[in-house]
Amino acid sequence: MNTFINSPTQKKHFQNQIIYIKRDDLLSKNFSGNKARKFHYYLAHEFPHLQKVVSYGSAQSNAMYSLSVLAKKQGWKFHYYTTHIADYLKKNPHGNYKYALENGMKIHIEQNTPTPSTEKTTLFIEEGGRQKEAEYGLEILAKEIEAWKKEQQIKELNIFLPSGTGTTALFLQKHSKNKIYTTPCVGGVNYLEKQFLMLEKDKNFHPKILTPSKKRHFGKLYRESYNIWLELQDKMGIEFDLLYDPHGWLTLLENPQIFEKPTLYIHQGGLIGNESMLARYQRKYNENI
Ligand SMILES: *Cc1c(COP(=O)(O)O)cnc(C)c1O
Repeated sequence: MNTFINSPTQKKHFQNQIIYIKRDDLLSKNFSGNKARKFHYYLAHEFPHLQKVVSYGSAQSNAMYSLSVLAKKQGWKFHYYTTHIADYLKKNPHGNYKYALENGMKIHIEQNTPTPSTEKTTLFIEEGGRQKEAEYGLEILAKEIEAWKKEQQIKELNIFLPSGTGTTALFLQKHSKNKIYTTPCVGGVNYLEKQFLMLEKDKNFHPKILTPSKKRHFGKLYRESYNIWLELQDKMGIEFDLLYDPHGWLTLLENPQIFEKPTLYIHQGGLIGNESMLARYQRKYNENI
C-alpha cells in the first residue's frame, strides 16, 4: 500500500529560542501526525485476511479518527468502544467524532473495555495505539530526523515531544542517537514511567521525563494553555494541537538548558481535534479578551 513521504523540518524563533519543528502535521491531509506514524505498519503491509478493526477510548480521540481513515483506506469495518458520549456531542457531532462517523465508524457505548478478539479477521488496537507495531513507523521517523541532522551538519540534537501513552517518545528514543525529552500530559510522571516499562524493560532506552511545574488535567481548559497556543500561532504561523502541545511547550520552556543544543520539537498533528477544543476555549475565554 502507499506510504507517505518525509515531512518537512522548519527553523523558527520563539521566546528568544531557536527551535526546529518537525512538521508531521503536514504528512498528509487525512492521515497525519504521530497516529500516522504509529499506524504506518498497517498501511505499509498487506492484510488480506482482515475485515474489521476494533479499538476503544474517548469519543473525541485523535487515534479513533486516524483508525477510521485507516479502516476506510483498507476497506475494513471499524468498531469503536467508548464508555460515554456527552449529550452535546451526540446532538451536535463535531471534531474527530464527526469525521470518524463520516468515515463509517460504528460506535458502541459500553462500560467494559472490549477484549482482544481471537478471530483472525479482526485487528485489535489498544487505546491510543499503544502497541509494538507502532515501532515500525517510529523507526522511519528516527531515520528521517537522522538524515536531516546530517544534511544540516548538526552534531548533537535534543528532541522534545509531549506524551500521552508515551509510545511515540519511547520508540523514537529506541531508534535515535539523540536525547529525547518528554513530559506527561495524561497522568503523572509515574504513570508515564509505567507506560514506558510496558513497552521496554531496559530503562536505558527510556526518554528523559521532564516534570511539569504544574499538574494539568488532560482535556481541561487552562488560560495559560490557550495563551501559549495563540502565541505559538502568532509568532511561528503554526497551528499546534490544543490537548498536548500547550502543556508540552510550557514545560519545555521551563527547561532552557535543553536549548543549549540545537532542539527539535515534533509536531504530532491532532489538528482535527482542535475543532472541539477551540469551541470550548472560545466559549470559556473569548468574551474576556
Ligand atoms: C496521540 C497524541 C499524542 C500522544 O502520543 P503518545 O504516543 O500516546 O504519547 C501527542 N500529541 C498529539 C497531537 C496526539 O494526537
